[in-house]
Amino acid sequence: MSTKQIAIDGPAGAGKSTIARMVADRLGFIYIDTGAMYRAAALYLLRGNIDPADERASAAAVAGADIRLVNENGNQKILLNGEDVTGQIRTQEVGAAASLSSRYRAVREKLTGLQREIAEKENVVMDGRDIGTTVLPDAQLKIYLTADASVRAKRRYDQLAAKGTAGLSPDEIEAEIRARDRQDMERKNSPLRKAEDAVLVDSSDLSIDEVCAAILKEYQKVCR
Ligand code: C5P
Repeated sequence: MSTKQIAIDGPAGAGKSTIARMVADRLGFIYIDTGAMYRAAALYLLRGNIDPADERASAAAVAGADIRLVNENGNQKILLNGEDVTGQIRTQEVGAAASLSSRYRAVREKLTGLQREIAEKENVVMDGRDIGTTVLPDAQLKIYLTADASVRAKRRYDQLAAKGTAGLSPDEIEAEIRARDRQDMERKNSPLRKAEDAVLVDSSDLSIDEVCAAILKEYQKVCR
């Protein structure tokens, strides 16, 4: 492996994307949001009226979808069959559908293949659920970033409310987050879990800057 790889895994709303983007900026690496790929696949299913809980139909449909992450002027965009769907994938509905269709091996194999291709060419900070355990098992640094479910729900609510797209109450968002945790952790294929060699970071009582500093410090240790 000639590229540098930092894997950040953890449950929904732990702050992975914000932190991973910051760490990537600081190190001059590319940030790869693998959740966006699963969300784009789920959006494709929803648009085609395909039930994301139907394994055969989901696998067949996703096989034909062209999903790409591109960087434009430092901003990451997700393209679905050439269409920019970056904004459209950020809804609770798409997140919940992604959590269902991401259980299937065929869906995961397609997307993990794309993720590895990028990491072979570029230095990356990649975030998701299975990066340290499955996608990049040889990453120089693996972080398992978590926080209490109630803290994660509050953050997610604030994030959605700021965009005017909350739609659900804070309690409903917490219930949805707990259901998603369960589904992501209990699935058969690549369940969310901490890789044995990952560093655990609990962000419940830490600011974004503190979490970012802690990760950069860990990276310094492994990159001497
Ligand atoms: O991280 P985000 O909430 O955008 O991810 C949406 C869903 O995609 C997750 O709940 C999870 O089920 C799935 N996912 C996954 N593996 C990844 C990234 C996301 O299974 N590496």
